[in-house]
Amino acid sequence: MSAPNPSGWQPSLGSMGSESVEPMTASGDRGLMLEEPLSFELGSAGKCGVDMDEPDEAPVSGLSSFLRECAPELPGLTEPEVIRHYSRLSRMNYGIDLGPFPLGSCTMKHNPRLNEKVARLPGFADIHPLQPHETVQGALDVIEQLADWLIRLTGMAAVAMSPKAGAHGELCGLLCIRAAHDAAGERRTVVLVPESAHGTNPATAAFAGYKVEAIPATPDGRVDLAALKEQLSADVAGVMITNPNTCGLLEREMKAIGDAVHAVGGYVYCDGANFNAIVGKLRPGDLGIDAMHINLHKTFSTPHGGGGPGSGPVVLSEALAPFAPLPFVTRVADGTLRLIEEGEAAEHAPESFGRMTAFHGQMGMFTRGLAYILSHGADGLKQVAEDAVLNANYVLRACEDLLDAPFAQSGPCMHEALFSDSSLPDGFSTLDIAKGLIDEGFHPMTVYFPLVVKGAMLVEPTETESKMGLDRFILSLRNVVQRAVNADESLHSAPVFAPRRRLDETQAARKPVLVWNGDRDG
Ligand SMILES: *Cc1c(COP(=O)(O)O)cnc(C)c1O
Repeated sequence: MSAPNPSGWQPSLGSMGSESVEPMTASGDRGLMLEEPLSFELGSAGKCGVDMDEPDEAPVSGLSSFLRECAPELPGLTEPEVIRHYSRLSRMNYGIDLGPFPLGSCTMKHNPRLNEKVARLPGFADIHPLQPHETVQGALDVIEQLADWLIRLTGMAAVAMSPKAGAHGELCGLLCIRAAHDAAGERRTVVLVPESAHGTNPATAAFAGYKVEAIPATPDGRVDLAALKEQLSADVAGVMITNPNTCGLLEREMKAIGDAVHAVGGYVYCDGANFNAIVGKLRPGDLGIDAMHINLHKTFSTPHGGGGPGSGPVVLSEALAPFAPLPFVTRVADGTLRLIEEGEAAEHAPESFGRMTAFHGQMGMFTRGLAYILSHGADGLKQVAEDAVLNANYVLRACEDLLDAPFAQSGPCMHEALFSDSSLPDGFSTLDIAKGLIDEGFHPMTVYFPLVVKGAMLVEPTETESKMGLDRFILSLRNVVQRAVNADESLHSAPVFAPRRRLDETQAARKPVLVWNGDRDG
């Protein structure tokens, strides 16, 4: 067994770009900003952290052709080395447990520990999707109760619980819309999507086989209703509208949009990723919406990011409910809960468009989401929306004198405050502000999105930040912006106090290093 490069590790301090400002330390560590090589660079052949039994000489009969011909090239490490390796790597990371994650369009809020405790109960954590229904009645009851809350909070007729993320929920909604048109014997080809939409909206519509047409925005950052009406025809399967939208504004004409779309036989899909701003205050079902995904990992505080499990239940109007995907939970005649699968579809769901997932959905997210809902109650959820909106407006009004806020005149914002770099001196941009925030100890806000605003900075504080926490963030944001306003060239070097300096993004795109070959400079 040989590690590819057992001794060749060199600390790679400083930027991947050209200028190096920091004095070098021999270790590569800078104070408590710790460097860490790959485990392959740390380990060496023959070292081992555990005593393992010798393998059986005789392999299970018939499987000998699957045996390795040579040892795997795994690095040998002691237990302390393994623990330090991952602890040091984890210290390079920034997460919601360290500080605010002010990413607009993401609703990154605190994940209450109570949720984690409940999700780890063996009756939820240790079950298998293929277990007989009678042994998982409690888990099915959680799914049923959560479904009931989502229906009541949105004022819709039904909910499909199996989609595994927001984007997956969008696909579910569009497949319901297509099934409804198919059932009516119609073949529609176009889906309308506003210019400010999250990229998943047009991507989903295209993936579902529709032609995507963009709806322009008005100067105040909302859907242009007149332009939308002009684009409506018997070819339009539906529209996808985000409400509150990605400029952080409420689409006030949602009902008129819905009426116009329904008048030509289309359906209204609402991207509900920003539901945090209106939960408990406004019911999408009252606005003529036919389908909307809810990101449990945003609004309902389940963990989020890093590609971990999300969950994107889709609430449906009466018109679309019959087409919802399999499987779903239902209470049968004897009072027990069961999952309706293909075998029973003819009886319980004859018009279902089919199945999107192998199993029912994300049990862990369902338990976390329901724990969050029950611990807040209906009044608490309303307060979530009010506090989230208050916090975003606090940030907006605290910075609009120093930083351009393109829609500040459009009234109060919803859950997120939108700024742009248009008021900064030449040579200073959104990227400088984002990198400067890292030096201040904050995760940057969402940058360069939505695309309708040049140099956008989208800040979503959420309700879980205290006034003191917001004041600290505002102080730091203002400090970084002031450095830009003063044309302080040192801001171009930010971040300085981070494990990695500013990356050369052009080079990263042009010459990506996709395979590690043991030679860091190769
Ligand atoms: C997060 C988000 C999505 C996508 O949700 P995922 O769960 O990440 O797939 C879609 N639209 C908007 C506006 C979002 O913020």
